[in-house]
Amino acid sequence: MESQIHKIHHQLMNQEITCKQLIQEKLDVLKLNTHNTVNSLLDSMALELASKVDEKINNGEKIGLLEGIPFGIKDVYMVQGTYTTASSYLLKNYKSPYTATAIQKLLDAGAIPLAKENCDSFGHGSSSENTIFGAVKNAHNPELVGGGSSGGSAVNVAKGHTVFSIGGDTGGSIRQPAGYNHVFGFKPTYGRISRFGLMAYASSTDCVGPIAKSIEDIRIVLNIMSGKDVKDQTTYSSETILQENILNADDIKTIGYFKNFIESDAIVPEIKSAFLASIEKIKAKGIVVKALDFFEADTLVSTYYTLAMAETASNLSRLDGTNYGNRIEGDTLKDTYAITRSENLSEETKRRIVGGNQVLSQGFSDEIYLKGLNLRDQISENFEKDFQDVEIIVSPVTPGLPPKIGDSLKDPLAMYLSDAYTVGFSLGQLPTLTIPQGTATGLQITAAKNNDELVLKFANFLKDTI
Ligand code: GLN
Repeated sequence: MESQIHKIHHQLMNQEITCKQLIQEKLDVLKLNTHNTVNSLLDSMALELASKVDEKINNGEKIGLLEGIPFGIKDVYMVQGTYTTASSYLLKNYKSPYTATAIQKLLDAGAIPLAKENCDSFGHGSSSENTIFGAVKNAHNPELVGGGSSGGSAVNVAKGHTVFSIGGDTGGSIRQPAGYNHVFGFKPTYGRISRFGLMAYASSTDCVGPIAKSIEDIRIVLNIMSGKDVKDQTTYSSETILQENILNADDIKTIGYFKNFIESDAIVPEIKSAFLASIEKIKAKGIVVKALDFFEADTLVSTYYTLAMAETASNLSRLDGTNYGNRIEGDTLKDTYAITRSENLSEETKRRIVGGNQVLSQGFSDEIYLKGLNLRDQISENFEKDFQDVEIIVSPVTPGLPPKIGDSLKDPLAMYLSDAYTVGFSLGQLPTLTIPQGTATGLQITAAKNNDELVLKFANFLKDTI
């Protein structure tokens, strides 16, 4: 698909549409909320900003590429004065006192936020059913889940309700819903985009990233949000990715895939055969494809969930009703904490807090948490070794097809295992992109740390190859 951002930019500049019409149209469909994608609409802010864009155009002033472009925001980002609920009862009435750096950069570029989007509460989930706002429905079949945790964001993009949306990816939450809804979703190298103002889930793998309908739109939004931020010490400065630098992939000679992902029992035959067919098409273009050894999916999933649960237990300990959220008074302060958290957090979130505190507790932390850290180091070393041999790793995004709404809630362990192909790249802090091609739930393209440009370049190459 062509770039929606360029297309709308030209329509605005040539006065084929007004910004106000455009924004009103999108707000109207979002208001219907047929797929449970919206937690709150930012209608008055959006319309006000649209009028300003129209005024500029009417005065003959130039507008920037992102000026007037409507976008959605996963409901875990702070936007000053708006509800930021993390799809939880606890924060149902919480309003952001400040704006996240990544979102502020988009606002400064003139993009117009339309809605805070439904997601799994605090990013905990793979289906966007763990939410107080109703399960997000898949863009292509409303009986299936929208994927998660950034399900509302991916569905809005797929349905054209937003031009792009900003998701959050800790273990696959941008890539998996992008795959389930047939759009692009990018998790950049950890630290490329500031996490300031993103509600923390697991700080060591949390990433901000765009979901969009074209590689070009991903590139544009990524460039705007990237950069060093004094408010997030893990950020680094990066160079702008130029369009002309990602159009020709002739320099990519060798890629790889993980043999055990494809040989695993968990992969459904349809995804396996489509993936292998894609590999053949890539080979036919003269690229060498190596089958690589990697950790078993079980090891990846248990390492990820051990660390993610430990980090979320620690991050969410601040949510005790003292400074934020819906406080429920008990007889003693301790009761107040307990009742506030018990009543206001979801079963899934509580499962993770209990699991995480267990992992971190005295007598267990050496055995479990330190082992998790050690495995993470081994996984990273494995990636470093692989990327001396190959420039890109391709893999399916998920082993299975999107489940029916209701099924994942019955079996949390099966839901965790469905993250098998995404979590490893998160632990490695690598740049990785879902493209809506190659299998029914897309293909994942990954490169070594800081090689985000190479990922987009290979994605462009695959556009005409598979
Ligand atoms: N499904 C994974 C989890 O629940 C990933 C979620 C995410 O990336 N926020 O942890």
